[in-house]
Amino acid sequence: MTYVVTENCIKCKYQDCVEVCPVDCFYEGENFLVIHPDECIDCGVCEPECPAEAIIPDTEPNLDNWLEVNRKFAEIWPNITRKGDAPADAAEWDGKPGKVEMLSEKPGTGD
Ligand code: SF4
Ligand code: SF4
Repeated sequence: MTYVVTENCIKCKYQDCVEVCPVDCFYEGENFLVIHPDECIDCGVCEPECPAEAIIPDTEPNLDNWLEVNRKFAEIWPNITRKGDAPADAAEWDGKPGKVEMLSEKPGTGD
């Protein structure tokens, strides 16, 4: 089992989650974060920290696509353990539908 970052993180990227992860298994893209599914120890502490409610346990249904997105980018994006600045327009994007196509494949800067 693992926790998975899902669509509503896109363009919100508040990064509250990275500060609480005991095993530092978050990886940073330009406008999204992912969890490495093989490194996550399923502690669950990040889930309530996410203001966008984007972190979901993979025991929930229909998460296979997001699990694959998390796995794919965790292998190529840099690790992030410290909270940086959220995008200035993060609140505007919180909860908007149709953000999937805005997911950038570019890496973030990491720590
Ligand atoms: S706290 Fe939520 S929205 Fe913010 S970076 Fe983490 S998963 Fe994304
Ligand atoms: S569930 Fe725990 S180990 Fe997994 S990403 Fe969240 S804080 Fe890290």
